[in-house]
Amino acid sequence: MTLINDVAVPSADLLGRQRSAHLAAGPASAAERRDRIQSVIDLLVRHHEEFAAAMDADFGGRHHGYSLMNDVVGSLGPLKHARDNLETWMQDDPRTPYAPYDQMGASAYVQYQAMGSVLILGTWNAPLFTVLSPLAGVLAAGNRAVIKPSEITSRTAEVLQRVISEEIDPDVVAVVTGGVDVAQELTCLPFDHIVVTGSAAVGRAVMANAAANLVPVTLELGGKSPVLVGRSADLTATAMKIAVAKATNGGQICVSPDTVHVPRENLDALVEAVATAFGTLHPSAAGNADVVSAVNDRHLDRVDALVRDAAERGARVVTAPDENLSTTDRRRPLRIVVDPPADAAIRSEEIFGAAMIVQPYDTVDDVLAELGAGPKPLALYYFGDDDEERDRVLARSTSGGVTVNNVMMHPGMNEAPFGGVGVSGMGHYNGREGFLQFSHARTVFLAPDADPRGDWGMLPPYGEHFTLAMIAQITA
Ligand code: NAD
Repeated sequence: MTLINDVAVPSADLLGRQRSAHLAAGPASAAERRDRIQSVIDLLVRHHEEFAAAMDADFGGRHHGYSLMNDVVGSLGPLKHARDNLETWMQDDPRTPYAPYDQMGASAYVQYQAMGSVLILGTWNAPLFTVLSPLAGVLAAGNRAVIKPSEITSRTAEVLQRVISEEIDPDVVAVVTGGVDVAQELTCLPFDHIVVTGSAAVGRAVMANAAANLVPVTLELGGKSPVLVGRSADLTATAMKIAVAKATNGGQICVSPDTVHVPRENLDALVEAVATAFGTLHPSAAGNADVVSAVNDRHLDRVDALVRDAAERGARVVTAPDENLSTTDRRRPLRIVVDPPADAAIRSEEIFGAAMIVQPYDTVDDVLAELGAGPKPLALYYFGDDDEERDRVLARSTSGGVTVNNVMMHPGMNEAPFGGVGVSGMGHYNGREGFLQFSHARTVFLAPDADPRGDWGMLPPYGEHFTLAMIAQITA
């Protein structure tokens, strides 16, 4: 249900309106697509302070500068990139027809068609970015969109709904707010595509609903992104880069380093270096406006419980900065959980908060074997100057994306696809790949007048000649 001119419109009617408008208007020109994207850019520019204030309130503490960087500037990048490149992406793509028709005047091309109406479901950890970044590709491809932001960041969702309804035709982009029940209702509708960012559990639920209507899905999920610190890595520099990543959004990022694999002899040095580096970024946690709070009590308790469980099973926990956990503030220091036992829940569950694991290894092949046996992660990080080892890690592992000698760098590229693999997701967006993801690649074959199949004895009634001609085609 959404409000259009103060009238409540059920989600199914909203989809019906967008579909009728899409059919009536025909394919959107490049200029129309650019205008639609520009409207989104303009409303972000106009309302950026209001959005930052809403995210601060939603998190119970999220620095305005951080929200502007992550969600406003972070969304403007893909939107502007799509605006400035979509005309090139839209062009028909010529292909060579097969013989003998290529010699008889046939031609062929791939036409990139809009799918229609795309449903976008976002998460709380990046409440604008996770809906507006896919929207860039959705609009570039000439589609219309229904956006359902996360209910956990409800104030941001309300601002988004209001400003979009004020500034964009709901037949082009509409925002529906609500919780899991609304998400369930929407994902049961026959949209032309669904893109969802969320946990693997959400991905499964959405895919099951979409399957009933055979709606294609793009699933941007999460998981435990590992860091492999090679023996050639500079430990101090590596530790600072890991600390910077863990200090970002309170660790509540899908590509946040989760488990750091370090050579056994470097375990203590790395733990100490990460703790020191984190302390220089955040000398305190509770009451520190630079620290992003856990988004709500449920997520706070979830992460605290993972750390507690590991400690109860004998793992050492180093807290940086070394302070007691506040009972009134959801801002948390980084908890570095050292070598937790295999049965600790933190070894299998995505942390998605202010904690991380450091695990010792003897050989890189041991780590590669462990990673290969587990779920495919969204991101993988390698630190080291050993090119041979780096290439071996790249060749013998898989993940949605990789950053070498830093953390969380690759998702920011507008020129390269971002997405998961296996349980960390399917499909991807960003730049041209996003355009392709939300387009139907339709092959068009322009046949020549001449068709030699009758003259060549290839049409029924079949004779001996036909079989012999086919046998002659069976070559290696
Ligand atoms: P969430 O609770 O905000 O849920 C995400 C969306 O799914 C919401 O809009 C919600 O309403 C909807 N939803 C929830 N249950 C549903 C159901 N049963 N059926 C249909 N829709 C449903 O977010 P979350 O799931 O806690 O998100 C955190 C996860 O998202 C983490 O695993 C994180 O790694 C991942 N994530 C991935 C990316 C990425 O780009 N790959 C980005 C951010 C977060």
